[in-house]
Amino acid sequence: MTEPAQRRTRLLASAAAALRAESSVLNSLGALFADAGHELYLVGGSVRDAVLGRLGNDLDFTTDARPAAIQALLDDWADTVWDTGIEFGTISARKGSALIEVTTYRADTYDQVSRNPKVTFGDTLDGDLVRRDFTINAMAVKITADGAADFIDPLDGMTALLAGVIDTPAAPQQSFGDDPLRMLRAVRFVSQLGFRLTPRTFDAIVEMVGEIDRITVERIRAELDKMICGEHAIEGVDALVDSGLADRVIPEIPGMKLTIDEHHQHKDVYQHSLTVLQQAIDLETGDPDVVLRWAALLHDIGKPDTRRHEPNGGVSFHHHEVVGAKMVRKRFRALKYPKAVTDDVAQLVFLHLRFHGYGEGKWTDSAVRRYVTDAGDLLERLHKLVRADCTTRNKRRARKLQETYDDLERRIAVLKEAEDLDRVRPDLDGNAIMELLGLPAGPQVGEAWRYLKELRLDRGPMDRDEAEVALKQWWAERS
Ligand code: ATP
Ligand code: MG
Repeated sequence: MTEPAQRRTRLLASAAAALRAESSVLNSLGALFADAGHELYLVGGSVRDAVLGRLGNDLDFTTDARPAAIQALLDDWADTVWDTGIEFGTISARKGSALIEVTTYRADTYDQVSRNPKVTFGDTLDGDLVRRDFTINAMAVKITADGAADFIDPLDGMTALLAGVIDTPAAPQQSFGDDPLRMLRAVRFVSQLGFRLTPRTFDAIVEMVGEIDRITVERIRAELDKMICGEHAIEGVDALVDSGLADRVIPEIPGMKLTIDEHHQHKDVYQHSLTVLQQAIDLETGDPDVVLRWAALLHDIGKPDTRRHEPNGGVSFHHHEVVGAKMVRKRFRALKYPKAVTDDVAQLVFLHLRFHGYGEGKWTDSAVRRYVTDAGDLLERLHKLVRADCTTRNKRRARKLQETYDDLERRIAVLKEAEDLDRVRPDLDGNAIMELLGLPAGPQVGEAWRYLKELRLDRGPMDRDEAEVALKQWWAERS
């Protein structure tokens, strides 16, 4: 056997093993549909992932049964059944830990203009497979009462998978005109799988990039998040930028490329940001951290707008963290990110530079307290971001930076021993303030509370008497 043929055989064998592991679900589902006289195929991402040895709990199927019939069959079989989009022909169900989606063969028609295809159902598996986005996602495995049977691959997705390439079943221009979201999906698969786009796929995206405007921001955002969370996120971001898609959906990223100064004294901010992203990923301890990753990629987006040529010939980027945080907010709002995600990414960008004032350990306790309080729940991520944001090739300098950060973390630990740093609050609450100053509820109480909080940050915890004295003194000076 030739080398590729051997690899093909090996992959199919491992896919078969992965599917046998799911046999309790597959066999009974296969029997359910067969008894009702219907065909059933495992399809799309599930088959791709099985071949790649990364099949998860999500199992996607396609069938000739119409949606109402699917629903009736699943109702008797699954633990729970819900309708994710019956108008698209999809019924979802859960059985044990398996999440199942069964979709009627589709034979949609597209007008190359509108956002959504006119959904029509088809009668053949082949007709369904050719309308899928990429050949690697257009393979199927027949499911019978005895479990997985034939492997069906009319578009030769297996060859693409072995070669690690992303290609469309038919002409990519046609495909992307039918559904422009596929362009972003292509980039997302680059990131998730580490595959390359075929030249014709890449060229078609470059040519048709403007069509992405037909897609809602919600769907764009979902693909961007999958992209940034991929195992090969750097390649994904590069594909997003090189194809021109980024100019349409998040222009701040390619915007960082423009910041190479004519003397090349300053590193390309874009390349630096990709390195920081990779280093942040390397510091992750669990699942991909979408907030950390966006913050790492975007931490310097304020640089192009703040660049100044100094009289001494140098370049500065004063307040780029402030400008960058604002830019994050604006872009993330436009992409309709949840407020919490927007706030977190913006706050990390805002804080990423503060450590650089740490110098030789000259921060006061007050400064350390403020660092911890301002980071709040984001502190662990801030540690990772700041450590990742060191891309100097000078080993001695790099080591020095990490050691200085170790020192800051030690200072934080020491303060945490002594006081509850996670909840820095004034030593008197609103009620105590009102009582002590004889004030009704109102803005003055808030003002007093903020004063005490500032004092608390500066001085650390105070006992009740000290706090009362300080409060009364402030009030006397103020009135
Ligand atoms: P993941 O579940 O990891 O996001 P996936 O490949 O399973 O990846 P889904 O969005 O779950 O992607 O879609 C399941 C399958 O449906 C795909 O593998 C593909 O065959 C098909 N598909 C999804 N979206 C499109 C689309 N926009 N155009 C054509 N086919 C699509
Ligand atoms: Mg899926």
